[in-house]
Amino acid sequence: MSVVSAACGVGTPLHLRRPASRVVSFLGDATRLAALTGVKEIIHVTQPYKQVSREWKAENTVVRLPGGLAVGGDEVVVMAGPCSVESEEQILASARAVREAGAAILRGGAFKPRSSPYTFQGLGLKGLKLLAKAREETGLLVVTEAMDIEGVAAVEEHADIIQIGARNMQNFSLLKRAGRARKPVLLKRGLAATITELLLSAEYLLAEGNHDVILCERGVRGFDSNTTRNVFDVSAIAVVHELSHLPIIADPSHATGRRDKVIPMARAAVAAGADGILVEVHPQPDRALSDGAQSLYPEQFEIVMEEIRGIAAVLGRKVPSGSAVMP
Ligand code: PEP
Ligand code: MN
Repeated sequence: MSVVSAACGVGTPLHLRRPASRVVSFLGDATRLAALTGVKEIIHVTQPYKQVSREWKAENTVVRLPGGLAVGGDEVVVMAGPCSVESEEQILASARAVREAGAAILRGGAFKPRSSPYTFQGLGLKGLKLLAKAREETGLLVVTEAMDIEGVAAVEEHADIIQIGARNMQNFSLLKRAGRARKPVLLKRGLAATITELLLSAEYLLAEGNHDVILCERGVRGFDSNTTRNVFDVSAIAVVHELSHLPIIADPSHATGRRDKVIPMARAAVAAGADGILVEVHPQPDRALSDGAQSLYPEQFEIVMEEIRGIAAVLGRKVPSGSAVMP
C-alpha cells in the first residue's frame, strides 16, 4: 500500500504531497504508518496549530507582492496612511505624503469596525475605489480591511492585501472566506487574544489554501487605558518568530493610541525584528474622522522612516520605498 493511501485511511489529508518533496502531511494518528516501506521518519507537530508552525515548515514564509515587494525576507516593509478613507482629497494627500517619506504600502479603511454605531463607518465601496485611484497615481500597494464575508470579494478586487481586523480575528467564517481569496491576508491579533489563538486563526487561512499570511501585533487590552490605548506586546514579535514561519509586522498606532508614543514603539518593533510596521498617518490629524489622536503628522512620519532605516540597517535589513513598486 502506498504511504499516501495509507495516510488517507488514518487521518485528514492536508497536503498529500508537497511539490518537489517527499513529505506526506496529514492530521491523524501516524503510528500505523511507521512500519510501511518508504516511511523514513514521522515528525509529530506538537502544537495545536499545524501548518503555521515552525515544526511544519522551518524556513521563513516570504509573502510576495506585486512590484517585487516581499514581506518576511530581508526587508522591513512600511504600510502607512490614515485610519479611514475620508475623501478623494484626503486619501490622495495621504498617499503622496507617505510615498514621499518612503512607505511602500498605503493603508486606509473603507469598511470601519467602530465601537459605536454613531461614529463614522467608512465610505465602503467608494472608499475602495479611492484607494485604487491612489494606488494608480502613486504606485503604492494597498492594504485595507474586509469586515465581513460579503466584503472580501470587493477588497480582493481593489486591494493588494486583505486586512482582517482585531475584532474579527476569531470570525471563523470570515477567516475561511479569506482563506479562499487569491490575495495575501494581514491578520491582526485580537484585543485579548493569546498568541496560540492568533496562530490558530492563521491556521484557518492556511487550511483553506491561502499560505500568504502576514500576522500583526497591534497591542492587547491592559488595565491602564489612561496611559495608552492598549499594551504593545513587543515580545509577541520574537515569540511568533520562534513558533511560526509566518511574517509578523507591528502596528504601534493602535497599540498605543497616542501619536507621541507611536514613534518610539515603531522603533522598538523594528528593533525586535518585526517584518514591517503599519502606521496611521493623516495630512490633518486634528480633522481626522477616526483615530486622529494616534495619527502622525506627515513630518513626524518622515522622522520615523529615517529612524527605522537606521535601525533596520543595524540588523542587516532594508526599508524598501514605494518607488520600487510600479503601478
Ligand atoms: C485598523 O487598522 O484600521 C484597525 C481598525 O485596527 P484594529 O483592527 O487593530 O483595531
Ligand atoms: Mn485606526
